[in-house]
Amino acid sequence: MRCLIVSDIHGNLAAFDAVLEAAAPYDQVWCLGDIVGYGPDPRECIQRLRSLPFVAVAGNHDWAVASRLDLDEFNLDAQVAVAWTHERLSPEERDFLAQLPESITIAPFTLVHGSPRHPVWEYILQPSVARANFAHFDTPFCLVGHTHVPMIFALVENGSRCYAYSPRSNGPLALTDAPRMILNPGSVGQPRDGIPLAAYAILDTDAMTITFHRQPYPIEQTQRKMDEYKLPHRLSARLTFGW
Ligand code: ZN
Repeated sequence: MRCLIVSDIHGNLAAFDAVLEAAAPYDQVWCLGDIVGYGPDPRECIQRLRSLPFVAVAGNHDWAVASRLDLDEFNLDAQVAVAWTHERLSPEERDFLAQLPESITIAPFTLVHGSPRHPVWEYILQPSVARANFAHFDTPFCLVGHTHVPMIFALVENGSRCYAYSPRSNGPLALTDAPRMILNPGSVGQPRDGIPLAAYAILDTDAMTITFHRQPYPIEQTQRKMDEYKLPHRLSARLTFGW
């Protein structure tokens, strides 16, 4: 099976559509949370995802928009975007977000938004945090999002060390005979690694390989809508720089 792995779409339909087109064909979409929040097309992104064969876990923005999380933990710009998104969605769409599970296991993969230890909230940016998290899932591999930074953490030397490295789009990475790993495809709709291109990964479960990709999309189209809807300007400006 060829799976398209996406995370942190954040209501950016132009980015999501560019990824869906570039990644085709695929059998299933695995979404690692934060379908909405920040971007101007939360409805359309939910509808697009639901029109495809997909599985999805809950992100902190998804649950905040669905009133399942307290807004206090969010910065001010994010709070404004969450409130705007809440209004924009139908009760049925908010319900869909509220029902998303914290974690899904499709062996040999565990899917969560933040981390296996704290699925909705924890950021895995450092190897020390990643290493502690390997005790919190049973499968060889865990797919995460949330940081908006593509990253691979590998547990080596009998679990005594954890290495972190940035995946580059230079062909498939073999998962057969690989160490246990936590893999982050990066963000479709709001990359934060200084590269403004939409990020995603393709997982081939027959060959057991994963390939990381970056995809250009019409950023101005998303920015224009965000400015039109009077979403915080900082949120649209950052898309230019990918931070
Ligand atoms: Zn996010």
